[in-house]
Amino acid sequence: MHATLPLMRQYGFPALRRGRLETLQVNLGYRCNQSCLHCHVNAGPNRTETMSRETISDVLVFVQVSKIRNLDLTGGAPELNPHFRDLVEKARELDVHVIDRCNLTVLLEPGQEGLANFLAGHRVELIASLPCYTEELVDRQRGKGVYERSIQALRRLNTLGYGTPGSGLVLNLVYNPQGPALPPPQEALEADYKRVLGEQHGVRFNRLLALANMPIQRFGSTLVSKGQFNDYMALLHGAHRDENLASVMCRTLLSVDWRGFVYDCDFNQMLDLPLPPPEGLRGRKRVQLSELIGRDLDGHPIAVRDHCYGCTAGQGSSCGGALHE
Ligand code: SF4
Ligand code: SF4
Repeated sequence: MHATLPLMRQYGFPALRRGRLETLQVNLGYRCNQSCLHCHVNAGPNRTETMSRETISDVLVFVQVSKIRNLDLTGGAPELNPHFRDLVEKARELDVHVIDRCNLTVLLEPGQEGLANFLAGHRVELIASLPCYTEELVDRQRGKGVYERSIQALRRLNTLGYGTPGSGLVLNLVYNPQGPALPPPQEALEADYKRVLGEQHGVRFNRLLALANMPIQRFGSTLVSKGQFNDYMALLHGAHRDENLASVMCRTLLSVDWRGFVYDCDFNQMLDLPLPPPEGLRGRKRVQLSELIGRDLDGHPIAVRDHCYGCTAGQGSSCGGALHE
């Protein structure tokens, strides 16, 4: 795979500093019941990297001390970490809003029969990737039979109240373009998804989050192989809008990998671009979450490179969807 980090200094990205920390995004490990072609972390059933109980304890202490409002769980399939349910229960006891980035099919895995009820019972917000509303495209990207099982899982979630306005059980879907193009306007695409999934499968959801593809990992490497990398970077750079800078997720989010190392965002984690070490830890290549307990990162510089234009191009894009419609 081509490394794209060395190619990320062509344009220069405006300097950014952190604001008040609101969200801790935690990668619980690379084990997954699926092995999607485009997977950023190459997750799969045979991966063994998983966040330990000790690191999960650090996460909970950090959340409590820093008064974190949102805990955003990702992976692999985060639910396959053996401590997942314990972490969710303890975070909810602290009154923290929990988001689970769920691949949907994990809800149908053997041994996970009670998972959907558990998530609903703890009022966990679900964010699920469904790259298209057609079976052919989803199965091509995510594996044969994935579309049908995803629809089955969505129906199960709907019966529990997920996706029903007023239920408080939030179910959002994620769309990425298939190739080197910016996502279409989020609102119009959401209307299409709602119409097709509703009419054909009786499925409901709350919002569609349309995210731009980042020129990193497998997607970035494919662009390099096809000689499209520079054109895609020029597209992102040309579509940059200054007004998106105030809302990029790294200003209020911190990302932790399965070993406990910290990054400004999930994209930087995938690029292996660590959080710049704060005062007292200078000279260190990497910083552990446990070393940040009790520290205030407000005003701290953010590690930016050219891939950041993926967050500020056009309508903008973050883990929470478009920044501006
Ligand atoms: S479901 Fe997500 S984590 Fe799992 S292989 Fe697919 S893209 Fe990777
Ligand atoms: S990729 Fe986006 S979220 Fe990450 S540091 Fe750059 S602007 Fe911030």
